[in-house]
Amino acid sequence: MSSADDLTAESSADASDEVSTTVEGTPLVDLPKVALHDHLDGGLRPATIIELARERGIDVPVDDADGLGSWFRAQSDSGSLVEYLKTFDLTIAVMQTEEGLRRVAREFVEDLAADGVLYGELRWAPEQHLSLGLSADAAVEAVQAGIDEAVAAVEARGGWIRAGQLVSAMRHLDNGVAMAELALRHRDSGVHGFDIAGPEDGFPPSRMKPAFDLLLGEGMPITVHAGEAAGIDSIRSALVDGHALRLGHGVRIREDIEVVSDDGEAMGVRLGRLAQWVRDRRVPLEVSPSSNLQTGAFAAWGSEFGEHPIDTLYQLGFAVTVNTDNRLMSGTSITRELGLLVDAFGYDLDDLLTFQLNAAEGAFLPLEERIELQARIEDGFGLD
Ligand SMILES: [Zn+2]
Repeated sequence: MSSADDLTAESSADASDEVSTTVEGTPLVDLPKVALHDHLDGGLRPATIIELARERGIDVPVDDADGLGSWFRAQSDSGSLVEYLKTFDLTIAVMQTEEGLRRVAREFVEDLAADGVLYGELRWAPEQHLSLGLSADAAVEAVQAGIDEAVAAVEARGGWIRAGQLVSAMRHLDNGVAMAELALRHRDSGVHGFDIAGPEDGFPPSRMKPAFDLLLGEGMPITVHAGEAAGIDSIRSALVDGHALRLGHGVRIREDIEVVSDDGEAMGVRLGRLAQWVRDRRVPLEVSPSSNLQTGAFAAWGSEFGEHPIDTLYQLGFAVTVNTDNRLMSGTSITRELGLLVDAFGYDLDDLLTFQLNAAEGAFLPLEERIELQARIEDGFGLD
């Protein structure tokens, strides 16, 4: 059984939680995918947490892998981003050494490959991994070593995957410029871009403007968590102050869309200036449906998976991409997220292809590599 199967099986918390695993007869796991929004400290294998915690003498709330996976999911179902983020205390605690970071990164990329991912961006906040004296540069190098090992292992098996790091600065701390400089020092050795993460509400992107200005001046791509736990002012700041080329989730851009008529067949809408910019400029939305449900990101429009604004945004032409955010906390994979979307909205292969091509277009890769990635995706979907 592959690790992707493990994840899918584990995530079936109850018998009613059955998720489609195929679309039009094609196994979803076999479809080529792109993971733009996937936190390194949110994608550990439960068994690895237990082993690393034991080595370091750290207490775990449940000491069997299945039980620990269930614990993370239950803790993350709070409906609050702040509560959800507390589950990271444990994962970050076991990622404070070169060995821990390297192993977690290696397994993370191996699990992406098992999920059918061809290109993944791993985001994480080096400043949270220095409590045992590791330098931020050594931490980035340890993660890169794990990525490189996994890429080589996948290729040795005849597979193909590429991956890069996004350095996240924690938005409630004040290390933005130092983290931007860290990202720039490693831009030719594995760091593909920059992000800010952590509590969104009360910590607008404008707080980090000097870091963003530095990165823009150096031509380093930026994505910003915005429109998850705060609304359109946060999204505006991500674009204006953060120079964001993508939006982490961005689902609350829906607040800037007025439905003027809806007869069940067609929806008449009026887009505000901000929504119009995001749609017309094709700013990719890094939507993570299960995570968004868990953190209450779309609570204004409903509390069921099928009430997620993703479908409205997709139908209106926004550059929607599908992500996991934190595979451990949501007990999910991109395969499972696609299955949930197929069940909720009736998407077919063409829809799923569009999500992957949108993600490849938005990837923080040079143009020629994005074109190669798109060609591999079309090939994997059976197109020439
Ligand atoms: Zn995130």
